[in-house]
Amino acid sequence: MSDNTEASANSNAAEGQTPVDGEKMVFQAEVNQLLQLMIHSLYSNKEIFLRELISNSSDACDKLRFESIENSDLLESDPDLRIIVSVDEDAGTVTVSDNGIGMNRDEVIANIGTIAKSGTKQFLESLTGDQKTDAKLIGQFGVGFYSAFVVADSVQLVTRKAGDAADAAVLWQSEASGGYTLASVEKASRGTEITLTLKEDAKEFLNAYRLRGVIKKYSDHITFPIMMLGDVPPAPEPAEGEDAPAEEPQQAELEQVNDASALWTRPKSSIKEEEYQDFYKQVCNDYENPLTWSHNRVEGSQEYTSLLYIPKKAPFDLYDGNHQRNGIKLFVQRVFIMDEAEKLMPRYLRFVRGLVDSNDLPLNVSREILQDNKIIDAIRSASIKRVLGMLEKMAEKQPEDYAGFWDEFGACLKEAPGEDFANKEQVAKLYRFDTSHHDKAGELTSLDDYISRMKVGQDKLYYITADSYQAAKNSPHLEIFRDKGIEVLLMHDRVDEWMMSYLNEYDGKSFVSIAKGDLDLSAIEGVEKESDEDKAEKEKKAEAVAPTIERIKTVLSDNTSDVRASTRLTSSPACVVMGQHDMALHMQQLLKQAGHELPSSKPVLEVNPTHPILDLMDKEQDDDRFKDWAHLLLDQALLADGAQLEDSAGFVKRMNEMFLALKA
Ligand code: ADP
Ligand code: MG
Repeated sequence: MSDNTEASANSNAAEGQTPVDGEKMVFQAEVNQLLQLMIHSLYSNKEIFLRELISNSSDACDKLRFESIENSDLLESDPDLRIIVSVDEDAGTVTVSDNGIGMNRDEVIANIGTIAKSGTKQFLESLTGDQKTDAKLIGQFGVGFYSAFVVADSVQLVTRKAGDAADAAVLWQSEASGGYTLASVEKASRGTEITLTLKEDAKEFLNAYRLRGVIKKYSDHITFPIMMLGDVPPAPEPAEGEDAPAEEPQQAELEQVNDASALWTRPKSSIKEEEYQDFYKQVCNDYENPLTWSHNRVEGSQEYTSLLYIPKKAPFDLYDGNHQRNGIKLFVQRVFIMDEAEKLMPRYLRFVRGLVDSNDLPLNVSREILQDNKIIDAIRSASIKRVLGMLEKMAEKQPEDYAGFWDEFGACLKEAPGEDFANKEQVAKLYRFDTSHHDKAGELTSLDDYISRMKVGQDKLYYITADSYQAAKNSPHLEIFRDKGIEVLLMHDRVDEWMMSYLNEYDGKSFVSIAKGDLDLSAIEGVEKESDEDKAEKEKKAEAVAPTIERIKTVLSDNTSDVRASTRLTSSPACVVMGQHDMALHMQQLLKQAGHELPSSKPVLEVNPTHPILDLMDKEQDDDRFKDWAHLLLDQALLADGAQLEDSAGFVKRMNEMFLALKA
């Protein structure tokens, strides 16, 4: 659950107008918008209101249990945390109450009258109009409380914070349209009680049987008991000859509706697949089944249980730099301690959901304690291995699922080489790339498959980075590789260039960018040895173009670090080549645009000695025209590399002049 206290920055209270009792307060514009949308998009999926209110009550009980570890007075004489759902048919109301942490006045204003969470805007934007999907989005985005208005004309919330006096309670009331009122009231017990006056078309929820069904469906795994009144037991038949008993008619008793068992504490063999899936959906707030999961109990010097899930879809903010949640909940001896225990998973596995329940950590563990803790470190490294093992198995046994996984989360895994040196080889095994071996984008290969196709004598893994599949596939750098039948990995994700700066080798073979440094393919078998005549022919050509290359070098001395004859090109006249340790040009430009200071590294221009343009240039007497030729060579090479030209207008002008010269 997120901490909403910052929300008060937007609330009326923070603007200096503490609401007077009974005064009408206005909702934020976003709240109104959200309410309208919810009410309209959920009318055929109304039942989720109960899931959301129970989930809030459960959070409130979790919070209190956690705080009471340090301060047991908070529990007063009422230590058994629970949630009660009740119905008043005559009044047409459903009430959800809990004896959790409760809220004081400021918290009510901040948490219930305002939406300050970063997710809200995305929530509004991601509403699809499909009711099923939208209903499921609500829990994910943490806007659950407002779902009460889907079924209720009027919502009344009475709450008293644990530890506060009975007369410090607050009554919040709203009919949705535009605002709410607040009043100070008395409440005998701590916690929150929410009463919904049901709309005409939501009266079905006055039926206790219907409510039980909804609770079983969505809230079975809530770890606190959810209680409802049972059926009134029939009065015992008076025995023959006796008078009817004079006692009061029997009272119905509260009964627990949910299972409330901590699923992960049960033996694996007793848990059905469906139970794992339901548990995931309830606990991790997802609406789809997970792709796969791993449930482990570890015993010995350390005792803990982990239940780790791989989701099907990435959450909306997975790649949002500021908002990198972590999906692991931490329990200690079955007591919920915290959400988003970021110490338990590295960032590149932040998409993994689930929980860890430790028997060894102290109950009063805090985020600070977790920072530097041997127990946590051990759990973390074992959990990483589990997740990687689970993914490896999926890649092997369910390649289609794995392809879906890679699509959603591959870019996350690519952060691993920079973050987790120890596991980078194992993570790299999971990578999938486009390749020159296949014809289409999206026909990916693993590194192991690439290696299995390597030519005899090939000991390098060749790759190219570009800003799109097309740019990579059509790069002039690929020409010689295509010619010789040597496979090249086509990398076109933004993170690839960065990733490759950390991933130097795999399986003992080093990665080589085909767009950087010198190329030597001579050791590779199948790259036919040149005949002596061919060789002599080539040398003659190279000699012949040497003066032209010198002339080009002089013209382009400000723009290139060198100009040389190429061994990579077969059909293009020129290409740019970066130094072994330089960043690809398209990346350099991207980073510069984003405001980063970079040392400029100039490319080498390689020209193709066998290309007829070189002959034309050789014959060019006019110095100005030669300059134009040289610039055109460089600019087209830059363009083919996905770089932007500094002087694109100049390029166009030169090109047009060349056309006209042809005509002349
Ligand atoms: P979320 O649960 O994701 O935070 P909600 O809209 O469901 O979003 O709830 C908003 C906030 O209202 C909660 O974060 C919590 O601070 C407060 N709240 C709601 N219900 C309760 C409750 N039963 N007890 C205490 N606080 C509550
Ligand atoms: Mg909630």
